[in-house]
Amino acid sequence: MEELRIPGPTPCPPEVLQAMARQMINHRGEEFQGILMGVTDNLKQLFQTKNDLYILTASGTGGLEAAIVNVLSPDDKVLSVSIGAFGDRFATMAERFGAEVTRLSFEWGKPADPDEVRRALQKDSKIKAVLVTHNETSTGVTNDLGAISLVVKEFNKLLLVDAISSLGSINLPVDEWHCDIAVTGSQKGWMVPPGLAMISVSQDAWQAYAESKMPRFYWDIGQAKSYLERNQTPWTPAVSVVFALAVSLEMILKEGLAEIVARHARVAQCAREGVKSLGLSLFADEDFASNTVTAVDSTNGLDPKKLLQVLREKHQIVLGGGQQKLDGRIFRIGHLGWVNESDIEKVITALKVALPEAGFVAAR
Ligand SMILES: *Cc1c(COP(=O)(O)O)cnc(C)c1O
Repeated sequence: MEELRIPGPTPCPPEVLQAMARQMINHRGEEFQGILMGVTDNLKQLFQTKNDLYILTASGTGGLEAAIVNVLSPDDKVLSVSIGAFGDRFATMAERFGAEVTRLSFEWGKPADPDEVRRALQKDSKIKAVLVTHNETSTGVTNDLGAISLVVKEFNKLLLVDAISSLGSINLPVDEWHCDIAVTGSQKGWMVPPGLAMISVSQDAWQAYAESKMPRFYWDIGQAKSYLERNQTPWTPAVSVVFALAVSLEMILKEGLAEIVARHARVAQCAREGVKSLGLSLFADEDFASNTVTAVDSTNGLDPKKLLQVLREKHQIVLGGGQQKLDGRIFRIGHLGWVNESDIEKVITALKVALPEAGFVAAR
């Protein structure tokens, strides 16, 4: 069987897959209501939040769109803090909906500098919200969201966080860090197939919702709220994926969030040490290297596309390539969700064999 080591979709445990094979039930019936409320409560625990939390049928991007259309109005000023492809996408979405976006971009591979965020907020008092990616999957960098949040809250701005590839894997205390909206997606660290976005909503975000004039229908969190008061979702949810999530959340809570965060740190350490031991270098600033995805630079003649092909065809291991301007420049190892050190050791062992076939000549 193929080993899928990309930063989502991630492999799912057999119990989770079996849950998806269940016959359909009435999504407005009592049994499903119980499952939905149980899943919602468990997610709140793992988001470390007392905020409202909604499960949307969408990939992660749908959750980000929900964040934008529910708290902003056209012409609102927004500060986008971007360190890679997903940060840029979040900014583009806000622009597409008519927000006036100031882009504060950092060199890819580096984290955002909280002092520069402060300077940008000092420069323009009309900014209403700040968009930040917690873990930038395209570059393998985790921002210091705690520090960025302190700055954003000095100025009392809304903090909208793309936490798609961090929540549930990397520590993100949503309430302690005052995230007004935090978004994740089922196919990342949650060990569940794609299909659900999960989004938390603070009191301040609700305040902004009341004033927001963006057009919205499917993503309207006011609808989500009024239906959840009746233990339901407004529209038909991806029932099978909710079944799967119910099972995965039981597994996650049994292991414990602190242990899961520690496991991701260990596995990531194993990935970083492993690639360095082969003479490769990390793309990300190592002090901010992600615990869910490792981006590796193509140095010493390495053709990353050829490498991915060799790994796939000869070793049945699937890694990720680079996105946008990093296409053909890096490769990425996903290590989030259902993964441990031995899975990564297998990747490193295969890399050792495959690297010379992809043009890599180790420096002496
Ligand atoms: C995967 C990912 C997305 C996009 O999520 P989809 O589920 O593909 O819509 C956005 N941001 C980050 C940080 C991601 O890792």
